[in-house]
Amino acid sequence: MQKSKVYLLLGSDTGDKKKHIDDAADLVKNEIGEIITESSMYVSEAWGFDSDTVFFNKVIVVETDLNAFEILDITQKIEVRLGRTHKTIGKYQSRTIDIDILFYDDTIIETPRLTVPHPQIQNRRFTLLPLAEIASDFVHPVLHKSILLMLKECNDNSNVELAVC
Ligand code: AMP
Repeated sequence: MQKSKVYLLLGSDTGDKKKHIDDAADLVKNEIGEIITESSMYVSEAWGFDSDTVFFNKVIVVETDLNAFEILDITQKIEVRLGRTHKTIGKYQSRTIDIDILFYDDTIIETPRLTVPHPQIQNRRFTLLPLAEIASDFVHPVLHKSILLMLKECNDNSNVELAVC
């Protein structure tokens, strides 16, 4: 059976952020599948809430036999295992590690627990920039726009830079 490609956004804004992202990527590799592409590490301003610190972000593309709900189960366990204590209740908070499922092939999922493509992709430079680095031509299956076009049209002016690490 052909494997699926899942695009994951890894983010961290507390403690040793790079290590948290590297640890999450290792666990994803062991439990979800081979990482076939990864972006550089990016540093971005906190988005949607006041914070003194910055986020580190990276996008990875993983080849997997698992379905999107199985992947969500595993990414949520990885978040807990790496020390995330707060659950989001309608607002943004600091987190050791946050893992968002951005795309699962060109599958569209709309359930109370899981929305794929992730509903905020087109609104966030910290997601679009790393995605554009590794998948600029990928077409969003709902909006029918490439990553590059979404980046050009994005109104988010927050600062996102390559990390020096
Ligand atoms: P967050 O606080 O950003 O990690 O959001 C976690 C919640 O979003 C969880 O309850 C998930 O069930 C839900 N969720 C819905 N769609 C997605 C998605 N595409 N990726 C990750 N979490 C999702």
